Order: sequence, then structure tokens, then C-alpha cells
Amino acid sequence: MSKLPNISTSIFTVMSKMAAEHNAINLSQGFPNFPVDERLTDIVAKLAKENVHQYTPMSGYPPLLSKIAVLIQNSYQRTVQPETELLVTAGATQGIFTTITALVKNNDEVIILDPSYDCYEAPVLLSNATPIRVALNDDYTPNWEIIEKACTTKTKMIIINNPHNPTGKILTESDFEALEMLLEKYPDIVLLSDEVYEYITFEEKHISAHTREKLLNRCVMVSSFGKSFHVTGWKIGYLVAPDYLMKEIKKVHQFLVFSVNSICQMAISAYLDLVSTAAIGELYQEKRDYFRQLLKDSRFELMPCEGTYFQVVSYAAISNENDVAFCKRLIIEHGVAAIPISTFYADGKDLKLIRFCFAKDNATLEEAARRLCVI
Ligand code: PMP
Ligand code: GLN
Repeated sequence: MSKLPNISTSIFTVMSKMAAEHNAINLSQGFPNFPVDERLTDIVAKLAKENVHQYTPMSGYPPLLSKIAVLIQNSYQRTVQPETELLVTAGATQGIFTTITALVKNNDEVIILDPSYDCYEAPVLLSNATPIRVALNDDYTPNWEIIEKACTTKTKMIIINNPHNPTGKILTESDFEALEMLLEKYPDIVLLSDEVYEYITFEEKHISAHTREKLLNRCVMVSSFGKSFHVTGWKIGYLVAPDYLMKEIKKVHQFLVFSVNSICQMAISAYLDLVSTAAIGELYQEKRDYFRQLLKDSRFELMPCEGTYFQVVSYAAISNENDVAFCKRLIIEHGVAAIPISTFYADGKDLKLIRFCFAKDNATLEEAARRLCVI
């Protein structure tokens, strides 16, 4: 009877709810707890009194579309056409859902790399298509040979997430070269590039699909202002796609949401004149370094973190429990919430790894670390 018999409540909902019930420090679901830039909240307060409360055009508030085009130009030296190649969405989640629903048909196959963020599979299943989960290597680099072996005449889409949630891994120049070679052999495959953490990378620079000439005509890129500007609750992001794909995506978008909330679009549009994306990576690099420093003498083993605001740790030296049980006990007995990494694997592979979100003020990170260091 269920259309999604094997899909249950998202782990982010489960863990945030449990954290609230036990009054634990919530380092599970990925959202910042520090104040939003006052320039942005001032813009909203001012806008709220103006005539800004009705529908915007379906594709987005036109000045915002133009400013997204400028942002992409400045960040990646790519020229996009605001009217035909951009779409403002209600968060990256809606952008991803809309893209998959619009482009993936009955019996198509969609390659999803394991471990992966949780919002890709459901729209594939609802499109009566088959998700093909392909394991990343043990160090979370993509294994392009295995990915190529998974490609068939039915493959419609490959989804990449760069920087990668939950592992913090970023793709390299040679990854893109391998991907481009693979896609040359399969002209019908569309690439969905989830780059919601595009501005959150550290020592290594983010390589965006925007900069790959060979991919542009077949790639849908998704971004999230929620992530970039620390306003996850605003649910606002955007898609970039070539005209012929965007036409299809807009057909679905118009009946899914029609348009995205007006005041947030207008606020982001005004804010884009004031803000620099360069500061975002620096902010989170400091937080990553501080959090890692705080945990250095704990019994948790810190995994590498090249981007995103997530730190994966191993608790193998502490417990043999499975990661879901460990996370639950961490909340109840130690007052800290995390995300079990097994939930990012199709087969629930338990590697004794959990994910902490370090997008928190220093006092929160310090108190969480104090609790974690005595385990
Ligand atoms: N993709 C990834 C990899 C994410 O971590 C998230 C969570 N922010 C999303 C998509 C969804 O983003 P949004 O909150 O803008 O819908
Ligand atoms: N992307 C966020 C994370 O990985 C969660 C967003 C959500 O709760 N859907 O924690």
C-alpha cells in the first residue's frame, strides 16, 4: 500500500527530536546555532513593512536571479542566463526532488554513491525508477571504474555531492577528468551535482561542476542559501541547468510550489550586494579546527574533513555497539546528539562512525567536547 515501504522518518528528525526530549546538545542535524548576520535580519525587518508579500514570478524574483548569475560569474567565471538557466527553489531539497521528478522516468536507473545524503532515493522511487547504489572507496573517493560498470543503457542520472555530506570529502581534478571521460561514453546521462556546501571548503579549493566545460550542457547544479548564509530554516536555494533541462524542471516546479517565498528571495537578493562568500569557508575552518582541537584528547578518532560543517569520528575505541545504539546512548547518558553514519548507507553498513555538526558557537562546542572527552 505504501509507495515508499522501505523509507522511514529521516534520521535528522529522529535525532533532533530525541536531543530535544533529553535536553542534549544537538550536534546531529546540520544547522548553525549562532546569530545570523545582522545586516540580513535588518534587511528582513525593513522589507517586512514594504509591499513584498505577494507571489514572485515562478522562476524567482528577477533581481535575485540576476544576482545569482553575478555570484556564479564571480565564483566560477561562468556566464549563465538568468531567465532560462536559473530557478529559485524552496531549499536544495525541493530543487533535487523537482529535478529528479522532471527528468527521471519509469524504469530509468539513477546512480547514487554510498554513503549518501538521504534525499535522493525517495524521488527516484516515486518516479518508478531504480536507485543504483555504488560504494565509494574506503577513503570516500569515488571508484570511477565501479561507477562505470554500474552504467547501463537505462542509466539516466548520476548524482554527486561535492563537498560530501557526511564524509566531508571533496572531488579532485582527476575525479572530474574520470567523470567526464565516463560521461562522454554515455551521452544520455544527466549529472546532478549537489553543491550545497560549495563555499565550505578548507585547505583544498572546491572544484564546481560550473567550471567543467564538458559537463555544463548536461549538468543540473544545486545550491542552498540556507547553508551558505546560515539560514537553513528559510528553505531557499537554486538550480542551474541548461535551457533544455530547465524547461522540463520548471514544468514540475510550477505545480509543486509555483514560486518560493517572496520576502526571503528579496532579502537574499539585497544581502548578496553586501556579503562575500570568501568568509564562509574561513568561518567554518576556524570552527572545524577548534572542534578538532577540543576533541584531540578524547577517545574518539577524528576522520579527515576537507569541507562541509560535519566532523566524522570513530568510536571504535569506546564501544562495540552499533552506531544507532551508540548515538542514542550518547544522547541519554552523555547529553550530546550525533548522526550514525550507517543511515547514509543503503545496506546500513555499521563502521562505528558518527557525525557531529560543528556549525555551533564556541560555548556549545566547548560544552559538547567537555562531555565527549570524559567518555
Ligand atoms: N544536500 C545536502 C548534501 C545537504 O546536506 C542538505 C541539507 N542542507 C541538502 C541537500 C538540503 O538543503 P536545503 O536545506 O537547502 O533543502
Ligand atoms: N542537511 C542536514 C544534515 O545533513 C539536514 C537537513 C534536514 O534535516 N533535512 O544534517
